[in-house]
Amino acid sequence: MRILLVEDDELLGEGTRKGLIQDGYTVDWVKDGALADQALKTEKFDLVVLDLGLPKMPGISVLQFMRDRGDSTPVLILTARESIEERVKGLDTGADDYLTKPFDLYELLARLRALQRRFASRAAPLLVHGDISLDPASHTVNYKGEPINLSRREFALLHVLLENAGRVLSREHLTQSLYGWGEEVDSNALEVHVHNLRKRFGQDFIRTVRGIGYTIERSKDSK
Ligand code: CA
Repeated sequence: MRILLVEDDELLGEGTRKGLIQDGYTVDWVKDGALADQALKTEKFDLVVLDLGLPKMPGISVLQFMRDRGDSTPVLILTARESIEERVKGLDTGADDYLTKPFDLYELLARLRALQRRFASRAAPLLVHGDISLDPASHTVNYKGEPINLSRREFALLHVLLENAGRVLSREHLTQSLYGWGEEVDSNALEVHVHNLRKRFGQDFIRTVRGIGYTIERSKDSK
């Protein structure tokens, strides 16, 4: 899962970035509204954490432009504790949730998981697909009732595939969910992770869609 973090406060931004990475997210961090707007126009993110008080362009405009373009990526806004007006305006502009500063990292992580569930129209916290069950909160995967170990990227790839079961995901989208800007990516890195997941869950688990990307079938167990 790839997150765009928009925060101009160095200390808060760095702490949040580290916490998100530790929780398995791919994080791209920008420190002003204009860069955020640019990133959102050109890249695909799964979630956005957006501070509203930003240099160059206010967060509320970044959000407004997103929604005007029809970009429905879930957005959690960060607001000042005293400003109820700011929060209301953010929610009315299309934010999906908010946190007031200072916030607890664990609450942010839980709210982001809830946003992902809501966005995927999924009420249950577990992602279940046949014999596979993935828990985004504890970062664990069970297969045929037994816990299994996956690398960080394999877990992230499985997570994004399960969250989008039934949809074809482009190689570009998948690579972007696994790697942020400035990370060295081997041209066949994605193929290697796909290969590893197929080795564990069977060759037919992930279907290659020639010239486009990959997909897994919509599970009978999920809605
Ligand atoms: Ca700020």
